[in-house]
Amino acid sequence: MEKILVLEDEPDILGMVQYNLERAGFEVRTAEDGETGLELVRSESPSLLILDLMLPGIDGLDVCKSLKSDAATKDLPVLMLTARKDEVDRILGFELGADDYVVKPFSPRELILRVRAILRRAGGEADETEADIQYGGLRISRTAHQVWIDEKPLALTATEFKLLTTLIDRKGRVQTREDLLDTVWGYEYAGYGRTVDTHVRRLREKLGPLSSMIETVRGVGYRFSGIEET
Ligand code: CA
Repeated sequence: MEKILVLEDEPDILGMVQYNLERAGFEVRTAEDGETGLELVRSESPSLLILDLMLPGIDGLDVCKSLKSDAATKDLPVLMLTARKDEVDRILGFELGADDYVVKPFSPRELILRVRAILRRAGGEADETEADIQYGGLRISRTAHQVWIDEKPLALTATEFKLLTTLIDRKGRVQTREDLLDTVWGYEYAGYGRTVDTHVRRLREKLGPLSSMIETVRGVGYRFSGIEET
């Protein structure tokens, strides 16, 4: 059974989230402040952290930053809860940010959908025989789930990695936001195009001078246009 840690200071929301996760078959641990949450991440090794942005003491972004800057916890997927849609860019735009978010109020169904999608991405099975892919200074190892630029490791979230490899797998072909949502996020519904745009923007920031390999096709979507080195 996969263990999920929920860090939320509002008892009603905490209760609702815990109830629905348990009903969906997850083991749940809870904390109501950042410090306790960070301790539990280390002692309980959860598969996923559901993290409220606004917490007393250390806030959600600082919790996230602390986890992502520690080698032992940097791969823990984080689903952020936020009360305001205008905070979304701040959550995802932050370099060491969350993997995904939901805006309050959210339905239990939406939450469970997101949780399952993140866990699926984080646990993505790699083909152990697959060779690294190289595009100019960009090297990608699917087996190691690692990307390098000029042999310097790049810190990508599980979502960004999946987004990049999906675009590469379909290089030269335009991918609509819906295509990418479907493959990368596993959503069954439209209306989350902004999620794609925000993640592409953050991925480009990390790719720096190589970001032009991901082209924007106006009004349609995105296309990977790097030239593979063999
Ligand atoms: Ca709160």
